[in-house]
Amino acid sequence: MTTIADRSAADLADLHARARDAYEAFKARGLKLDMTRGKPSPEQLDLAAGMLGLAGNGDYVTQAGEDARNYGGQQGIAEVRALFTHLLDAPADQIVVGDNSSLAMMHDSIAWALLTGVPGSAKPWSKESDIAFLCPVPGYDRHFALCEAYGIRMIPVPMTGHGPDMDVVEAAVADPAVRGLWCVPKYSNPSGETYSDETVRRLAAMKTAAPDFRLFWDNAYAVHHLTPERVAVANILTLCAEAGNPDRAFVFASTSKITLAGAGLAFFASSPDNVRWYLARASKRTIGPDKLNQLRHVRFLRDGAGLDAHMDAHRALLAPKFAAVEEALSRHLAGTGAAKWTKPDGGYFITVEARDGTATEVVRLAKEAGLALTPAGATSPYGRDPRDSVLRLAPSYPSLKDVTAAAEGIAVCILLASVEAERR
Ligand code: PLP
Repeated sequence: MTTIADRSAADLADLHARARDAYEAFKARGLKLDMTRGKPSPEQLDLAAGMLGLAGNGDYVTQAGEDARNYGGQQGIAEVRALFTHLLDAPADQIVVGDNSSLAMMHDSIAWALLTGVPGSAKPWSKESDIAFLCPVPGYDRHFALCEAYGIRMIPVPMTGHGPDMDVVEAAVADPAVRGLWCVPKYSNPSGETYSDETVRRLAAMKTAAPDFRLFWDNAYAVHHLTPERVAVANILTLCAEAGNPDRAFVFASTSKITLAGAGLAFFASSPDNVRWYLARASKRTIGPDKLNQLRHVRFLRDGAGLDAHMDAHRALLAPKFAAVEEALSRHLAGTGAAKWTKPDGGYFITVEARDGTATEVVRLAKEAGLALTPAGATSPYGRDPRDSVLRLAPSYPSLKDVTAAAEGIAVCILLASVEAERR
C-alpha cells in the first residue's frame, strides 16, 4: 500500500472520502464503548469467585497457629509471603504483604521518604530544595500523578523497546536532585515492553549522585502473559546487592489483576534494611493488615502451579481481545504510515503512535462517535505529550464483541485524522 505521504492529491482525496464514509458509518451505529482503563473484565473477576467463600467455617488459623482474625502480623502471614516469592523475586523474609493496593504502598513509601527520608538519606526528601524522579515515557499516569501531587519534579526518559534509555538515565542520575526512577519492568504500562538483562544490570550498577536514590520497581504485570511464553526479568534485588547497592530497589506488586482488582493483596519487597524501614513506619499507620484476605488467597491459589493455572485462565479471556485490536489496526492502517502500534506479549495495554499532532484529534473524533479513549498526553508527565502522538488502548474490560467494534472505530479515527492532517 502507498503511504499517505506518498499519495497523489487525487489519491489522497479518494482515501479521505473513504475514511470519512467509514467514520460516519461507525458513528451511525450509535455505540457506547469505553477503552480507557486497564481494568479486569467481570469474567476475569469471576475466575476468583471461589475465593470469596474461603477462610470460612473456622478456617482462620495460620500454619504458625496465629488467629488471622485478630490484630497483628504486620509483615504478612509466612505462607502467603512464601507463595508470592516468585511474583516478587525475593525471599519470603524480605516481603511485606499490604492490603489491596500496591499504589497505596508506593504512595506511602514516597510520603514517608518525604517526611523522614529513606535508609541512606541525610535528611527528609521534603527538606531538600529540589527532588526529581525520572519518568519513562510513555508511562503510567498514576505514577506521574503521585509525583505531581507532592511537588516532585518529573524528568521524561524515552523508552527503547527494552526499557528506559540507559544512556539518558545514567547521565540524569549524576544530578543529586534525582532520587527516583519509575520502572514497570515487565510488560510495561503502556508500551508492553520488558526490560532486557542489560538494562536491569545497568540500573542496578549505575553510579548515582544521590546516596539515597531508589528504583520504584513496580512489577504490576509480573505473571500477566498473553502468550504461552512466561517472560522473565533479571532479579533486580540480587543484582543491586551484587553491585554494592543493596538498598536501591523498592519492589512492588499486587494481585489486583490476578484475583480481584478491588480486594486483592499488595506487596513490598526490598533489602532487609529497607524492609525494616518500611515496617517501622507501617506499624504507626495500622495494627496489622487484613490477614483473612491473605488466607483466602493462599487457600485459593495454593502454590506456584495454582497461580500459573489461574493466569492461564486470564490469558484465555484476554488474548482474543488483544488479537481483535491487532487485526483491525493491521487491516486499516498497515502500510499507510498513519500509525505504529505495539504487539505486547503481556500486560494490559496496546500503545499506538499515531502521526505527530493527531492524537488529540483521534480522541475527539472517537468521542464524537461514542467511543471513549484515554486522553491524549495521559502517558506523559504533566499530561503533556510534546508530539501529540501516543494513544493508550485498554482492551481488557469491554466484552470481545465491544472490543472488536471499538478497534474498528479506533483504526478509522486514526486513519481519518492522519489523512486530514496530510491534506491541511
Ligand atoms: N502499577 C501499574 C503499572 C498499573 O498499571 C496499575 C494498575 O493499572 C497499578 C500499579 C495499580 O496497582 P494496584 O491495584 O495494586 O494499586
